[in-house]
This record gives sequence, C-alpha cells and structure tokens, in this order.
Amino acid sequence: MKYAIIVGCGLAGFHYARQLQKQGKEFVLISDGASGASRNAGGVLNPTILKRYTLAWNGVNFFDHALPTYRNFEAEFHTSVLQDFSIHHYLSQVSDHNNWSVASHSKGLNRFLVPSILQSDPKGIQGDFGYAKLQNVGKLEVQKMLDIFRNHLTSKDFLKESFDYQALELYPEKVVYKGVEAKSIVFCEGFGLKQNPWFSYLPLTGSKGEFLHIRTDGLAPNKIVKGGVFIVPIAKNLYWVGATFSREDKTTQPTEKGKEWLLTKLKKLLHHPFKVVEHRAAIRPTVQDRRPLLGVHPQYKQLYVFNGLGTRGVLMGPLLADWLFQFMEYQKDLPSEVAIDRFETYFSNPKTPYV
Ligand SMILES: Cc1cc2nc3c(=O)[nH]c(=O)nc-3n(C[C@H](O)[C@H](O)[C@H](O)COP(=O)(O)OP(=O)(O)OC[C@H]3O[C@@H](n4cnc5c(N)ncnc54)[C@H](O)[C@@H]3O)c2cc1C
Repeated sequence: MKYAIIVGCGLAGFHYARQLQKQGKEFVLISDGASGASRNAGGVLNPTILKRYTLAWNGVNFFDHALPTYRNFEAEFHTSVLQDFSIHHYLSQVSDHNNWSVASHSKGLNRFLVPSILQSDPKGIQGDFGYAKLQNVGKLEVQKMLDIFRNHLTSKDFLKESFDYQALELYPEKVVYKGVEAKSIVFCEGFGLKQNPWFSYLPLTGSKGEFLHIRTDGLAPNKIVKGGVFIVPIAKNLYWVGATFSREDKTTQPTEKGKEWLLTKLKKLLHHPFKVVEHRAAIRPTVQDRRPLLGVHPQYKQLYVFNGLGTRGVLMGPLLADWLFQFMEYQKDLPSEVAIDRFETYFSNPKTPYV
C-alpha cells in the first residue's frame, strides 16, 4: 500500500512528493498536465513585501527552508534551477528613500535590503527616484524543475490524467483509486480545488494574473527589475513581465485590459525597444485570509489538502510540505494560521458567504 496518492503537480504537489521521497514513503502522483499557476509564475523567491518594506508573514523561516530545498534538488539532479539574481527595486517617490533606508537597517530585512540608493540606471531602465537592491533573493526556474522531476518518475509513480473524484473509494484506514491503494490522499490542485467534492467548502477565492513574454536586448540578463511590474529574465533576450491581479475574473483567458495595464507599466520603466511574444494568464490559489490551507478533512480522515500558496508558492512550498508531513505522520499540530480548521464554520454551515 502507498503512503499517499497526490493529486496535482504544481509547486504544492511537487514539494509534497519530494517530502515523501525524503522520508522514504511511496506515492502515486496524478496530474492532468494543465499548466496551472506554477508553470506560469515569475519564479521570484523573495521573503519581503516591496510595497510596504516589511517581511512577508513567516518570511525568514520560509526562506531558510526553501533555499536548501532547492539546492538539494539541484545537487540530486545535477542541474541548476535557482538563479542568484538580485532584484533592482525602482522607487516611486522621494519618501521611499527614507523608508527604504529605515527598513534596510531593521532586523530581518537587513539580510535582504541593501541600504544604498543608486541613481545610475542599468541600460534601458529609467526611474525618476533611483533604485535600490535586494540581495539573497533569486529566481526559480519552476517549469524546468517540475519537468525534471516528472521525467524521473516511472509510469507507476506518475499518472497523467484528470483525477476522477467519483472513482475514489473511501475506507476507514485507506483509499483506493482505480486499483491503487493508499493510506491517504493529498489534494494539491491549486485553483482546481473548486471542483473538489470534499474541500470546495474552503474559501479559496483565487486571483487572476496576466503576464507577457517580451524580447529585448536592452536589459541585463541576470537581474530582476521591479517597478510597477516585475521584469524577470527567462532566456537570452527573453523576459517575463507581470503580473496583473484581479479577483473578479476567474478565467485563464488573457484580456486586452490586462495587456494594456502591463504595457503602460512596462513602458514607464523600460525605455528600449521590445516586442511582445506572448500574453497569458493563470489563477493564483489565494485564500480569503491570505494564508495557506493545510490539513485533514473534518469528516474523512484519509483526505488531506495542501493549497492556498497564493502569490508565494516558491517561497512557502518547501516548509509547508514539511509541516503537512509532520502533521500526517506524527500528529504534530499545524500552525493555527495555516490549519484548515480555522474555516470549520464553512464546513458545518455551507451557506456562510465568504467572497
Ligand atoms: C502570473 C503569476 C505569477 C506568479 N509569480 C510568482 C512568483 O514570482 N513567485 C512565487 O512564489 N509565486 C508566484 N505565483 C504564485 C504561484 O504560482 C502559486 O503560489 C503556486 O504555483 C501554486 O501552486 P499549486 O501547486 O498550489 O497550484 P498549481 O500550480 O495551479 O498546480 C495545481 C496542479 O493541479 C492540477 N490539477 C488540478 N485539479 C486536478 C485534477 N482534478 N486532476 C488532475 N490534476 C489536477 C492542475 O492542472 C495543476 O497542474 C504566481 C502566480 C501567477 C498566476
């Protein structure tokens, strides 16, 4: 019998599967091959909030767990997926200078924010108020990492199909799916959770992100630029530019309005010719209270959820996978901020509105 069936192979499914490999537990991973949020993400690994010059919730802990996790992956698969890129943050007003300076000397943030404000712009980028650097941050090649991982799984460990919820048989101590027996099943479906008959009661609100791929020879290949939008290097002269944030539209169709917004922000920043080569959209699995969703179903103790990675799946995925495993295997309490029992009322009273 397997330890778990994992549904979904974005960052959540990947990190949980890696966690099981580390613990010597067997699993079957099922994913439909749709691109999801992870394969469309900018891949930025950053524990700070640049809008407010603060650390993200639990940012340093997440970061300190994420870094060795990605480095271990690289060592094991003899590859490179985490680039040591700095972020050049373009300031938008004079008062940012003082705010940045204060933040860059504060405990925790001083590891990431470099105090000096720089006026000399890199080629192609302009900002009226200068820029400052973030160090010890990076860019994860998410798609490459997921592909390497999938390709190393055998056809017994990985099933490419849309999970058929009707076909899942529930027994007191196990689940069976099309002949595969496992002690538990962990749903890592991203925004697909909305279709899950057991966990769709959770307040996963979702937020659409549109982004562009552009070609230009006017940017440095090893720096992330932030100023209205992120500009993230993907390959030689190719950059990811994003992203919009909308809670209203939950489709993955790119829109003219989204493109217009991205181009306006980009043109303010990049004063060098560029060509748009792609315009796409995906839904971030964001939650009503902006915290992840981990835990066991209130009624069926074999069913688990790993979701709500929101805007920071690259940062949070590794430690969250560890927390979930400790909870499942050793009944170690989950931090109250991420445990799904905080939404118990939505289960017991499904009519409670949350959006
Ligand atoms: C435009 C954009 C930019 C982003 N940029 C960043 C960034 O720079 N840094 C960062 O940390 N985060 C970023 N994010 C957020 C990040 O992408 C998410 O936090 C993370 O990818 C969520 O991972 P997930 O595994 O939960 O969901 P997903 O990546 O969506 O994966 C879920 C997978 O499950 C599959 N699935 C769902 N239902 C089923 C089913 N029934 N059967 C089989 N398979 C199923 C889906 O097809 C999908 O492949 C960004 C998101 C977007 C949209």
